Amino acid sequence: MKHRANIRIAAALACVALAFGGAAEDRWVFMPCHFWGKGVDNPNSLEHFTNIVARAKAAGYNGALLSCHLDLAHQWPPHLVRQLTAAKSFCDSLGMEIIPITWDVGYGGDCPGNWFESREIADLPYVRRGGKAVFDPPPVTIEGGATENLTFEGGASTRGKSPMRVYRRFTLRKGVRYVIHARVRSTGVPEKDKFQFIGFIPSIPKKSAYYSAPKHAADGEWHDLVFPLEARSDEQITLAFGHWGNEGRMEIAKFEVRARGICGATRRAGIPFTVKDAASGSLYKEGRDYAEVPPIAVRGEGAALGPYLELEIPAASRIPDGQRLLVSAEIPNLFRSAHDQYAACMSNPDYYARMEKCAQRVQELLRPKKWFFCFDELRSANTCAACRARKLDMAHLIGDCLTRQREIVRRLSPDIVCYVWGDMLDPNHNAHEGYAHTLGSYEGIAKCIPQDLVICPWWGKKADVQTAYWAANGFRCLAGAYYDDKTHKNAHAWRKEMETHPGLFTGWLYATWRNDYSEMENFLREVTPRK
Ligand SMILES: [Zn+2]
Repeated sequence: MKHRANIRIAAALACVALAFGGAAEDRWVFMPCHFWGKGVDNPNSLEHFTNIVARAKAAGYNGALLSCHLDLAHQWPPHLVRQLTAAKSFCDSLGMEIIPITWDVGYGGDCPGNWFESREIADLPYVRRGGKAVFDPPPVTIEGGATENLTFEGGASTRGKSPMRVYRRFTLRKGVRYVIHARVRSTGVPEKDKFQFIGFIPSIPKKSAYYSAPKHAADGEWHDLVFPLEARSDEQITLAFGHWGNEGRMEIAKFEVRARGICGATRRAGIPFTVKDAASGSLYKEGRDYAEVPPIAVRGEGAALGPYLELEIPAASRIPDGQRLLVSAEIPNLFRSAHDQYAACMSNPDYYARMEKCAQRVQELLRPKKWFFCFDELRSANTCAACRARKLDMAHLIGDCLTRQREIVRRLSPDIVCYVWGDMLDPNHNAHEGYAHTLGSYEGIAKCIPQDLVICPWWGKKADVQTAYWAANGFRCLAGAYYDDKTHKNAHAWRKEMETHPGLFTGWLYATWRNDYSEMENFLREVTPRK
């Protein structure tokens, strides 16, 4: 019933529609909606979706860029399919297009942990103990000793440093991963002064010279805090932890640094897993000397404090009891940021096979004329053995991935127009060597991607240089605008580019990351070119 009401609203407002934006081909609103909620105020409900779409239509929009885990559309349960079908019928009745957005490679694309981009962890020390080989952690020496049962009181600072900020130094061994564990209680500390760890690691280049752990509230309760890190060379690191302010009291009941094993290994085509004798270096055989190691079962790295991977040793194994071993494996490549991020590997044939299934199902359900590739903020790439074996730089690796995505879609219907976020394809944005955990050059990337992709640049502050770059390389663009900027400076920046480059842009996108559609009508007025 709600849908019919929305149709009536849209019909009534049709006469005022298209006051703005009539000239642009694409006038889209970004809609993350997973259809599993209920009620018009729930951003994941069908009611919310139809309500926003009806408003958008009335204002002059003509498309909804729909983000709803379509990567797994071929596995959706019937009730979600019914919701999506209802959303599609509603949009059809208004003449609104649904543009599917799929294959979020940079954020893991709904892939299992075993498909994440991975990296080598070499020569982990193991030892056979009876029927198992277990992680055998090397000892860690903390300069100044372990810190146990200590109390730090706030008060006058010493040389500008808080008395509740503690420093310890210890030496890391190359390749070994560590976890710092502390049991901490803070009382009387202001809310904003959260407990934190920072590790200063000399070999990590300037920009990421430290890892910072999530901050924990000073709420008078005991907290078990863990802080994982690893060394790229044998080196001494300094760890600073505690509160940075001078007010309150902090107790530490336990502080330890220990070597960290792996919770599981990436096991897919092209990724090695080896076990060798620590003394002679001779290799042992999987399936004979140790039981077959299954793919990593956890989503990412697993818990920092274990349980760690153990090898089952069959009776006929050639590994003697007590034998020291070195295990080399790959694990998912974590990019530590506000929210830990894993990317999908672009060299995994299973991922492309799943894209085919997804695309067929999306085609059945939505019959789109336009398709958007959710390829952005790719922060791990080209680090796994399967990628490195291809000997491609980032430009060609990304070019190959997007070419395959386009082929998958165009096989369904040769007229579908494909769109993609612009940041990973533009040297003025994220496409530069050394970006996060990506390996290789991005030089010439515009020549490596399909030339008929429509690019969606979205960094409003650099709208001018991005537009100039895509114009020079012969691409069309969709302006990725708004981003919850109620001043509409962002919209104005893109409007200026559309006015300067007539014909370059297919249109624009009202993109909100906060489910805030309050500016949808105002945005359209602000972004529409005046000439
Ligand atoms: Zn890879």
